[in-house]
Amino acid sequence: MIRITQLPVDPGPAAWTSLLETAPARPPLAECTTADWLVIGAGFAGLSAARRLSELHPTDRIVVLDACRIAEGPSGRNSGFMIDVPHDLSSDDYGGNAENDHRQIRLNRAAIDYALQAKDQWKMSDESIAKTGKLNGAITARGVAHNTAYTKHLDELNEPYERIDGPGMHRITGTRCYVEGIYSPGTVMLQPALYTRNLAAGIESNGVQIYESSPVLSLQQQGAGWVATTPQGSVSAAKVILTVNGHLESFGYYRQHLIHVYTYGSMTRSLNRSEVKALGGESRWALTPADPLGTTVRRVSGTGGDRIIIRNRATYDPGLSVDAQRVEQVGHDHDKSFSSRFPMLNDVDMEYRWGGRLCLSRNSVSVFEEVETNLFAACCQNGLGTAKGTIAGKLIAEHASGQQSALLEDQLADSGPVKLPPAPVARVGAAVRLKWGEFRAGREL
Ligand SMILES: Cc1cc2nc3c(=O)[nH]c(=O)nc-3n(C[C@H](O)[C@H](O)[C@H](O)COP(=O)(O)OP(=O)(O)OC[C@H]3O[C@@H](n4cnc5c(N)ncnc54)[C@H](O)[C@@H]3O)c2cc1C
Repeated sequence: MIRITQLPVDPGPAAWTSLLETAPARPPLAECTTADWLVIGAGFAGLSAARRLSELHPTDRIVVLDACRIAEGPSGRNSGFMIDVPHDLSSDDYGGNAENDHRQIRLNRAAIDYALQAKDQWKMSDESIAKTGKLNGAITARGVAHNTAYTKHLDELNEPYERIDGPGMHRITGTRCYVEGIYSPGTVMLQPALYTRNLAAGIESNGVQIYESSPVLSLQQQGAGWVATTPQGSVSAAKVILTVNGHLESFGYYRQHLIHVYTYGSMTRSLNRSEVKALGGESRWALTPADPLGTTVRRVSGTGGDRIIIRNRATYDPGLSVDAQRVEQVGHDHDKSFSSRFPMLNDVDMEYRWGGRLCLSRNSVSVFEEVETNLFAACCQNGLGTAKGTIAGKLIAEHASGQQSALLEDQLADSGPVKLPPAPVARVGAAVRLKWGEFRAGREL
């Protein structure tokens, strides 16, 4: 019997969800039922797994359980960058070794293709998901050096990009703070809550049954299958897929192997017409920082008006929770990053502030395996779950269905997270590394 030791808590409002109309709640599981397949966790990985299962086994009963509401967890509270090229957050230039990077590009592009197919299949809007590319923006000489290392790496991989000078960055973003940008065309941008909602509705039309507010409290082997118990019901399933990202540890797997980090976002109120004019630039753009520990910025225009989103800071939180005070404190850093970039908007306040979980591993690999007979896991997306979660979810469904493919081999090539040092050492090591990295990021933060 696996007793789940901790349930997910998501601090601050899921801002992207708050911009949308309230969605009717799906009822929690309130019966003892059976299924061919049970997917636990309805983020990118879980919804993709359920989608693929519904394609492979159209007559099977497929159930998805999530502790929260669709799009309220990390999948609906991220910055929405679905990136095709290497984006290793633990490196200085986002790159790793060339062989791994080629493999990761194949996986990321397969994720993007699968997401864009969903867009076509279920008639999603461009606001929900669109291939727009992204900028890698540099503010300082150090940022430019990071960008140079990054382009060298892209050259080695034979990947296209465009270098944009300071005036060009000003034309796009409206701010003069960026001295250079690297535009790479393959990134897809999401309104993450809208996309996740649309995906959930799409897979329901394939016959998948989703229960919200249905945390799995225990999991027990029963014959060849498993029974998952929630507060008001249970599902007995022949095969179970865990797509709970860092909460894999709460299910008793990979303890002391996963690095739990929170990162934080703030979103401005809607800009009025004169503020939009004062800002200038294009109405939609997306920018990752030249220094991986710098500030991500997005300019959006759509449901909820014209807004700017700031994301930065990362804190090591092995307890898998942070309080409201932390979100508030980090908010001060967001305000500084915002005002230094957008002095023309000094009357504009943040309307939403939030935090969210990331799960990393020391060797930047995921958990993708059958952890027990008929119990599969696709977790630990290393902070890049829009693409990595999507493809891991699709492929774990294929793996659990006994399929084989070159792409599955690519995914299986990850050897699994390595063990962390003892907890006090890991805590100090991770905290120092993040703080030092943020200090070195300087004005890129
Ligand atoms: C502020 C922020 C910005 C980010 N920006 C980006 C970005 O731009 N690009 C990118 O690729 N990634 C980004 N990320 C990371 C990305 O959101 C995650 O990597 C991604 O959500 C992981 O997807 P997943 O499906 O594996 O897990 P999750 O999205 O975490 O989904 C797991 C689900 O499991 C559920 N769950 C957990 N325990 C239980 C239980 N006991 N019973 C039932 N359900 C349970 C949770 O409620 C959750 O919905 C960002 C994250 C944050 C917080």
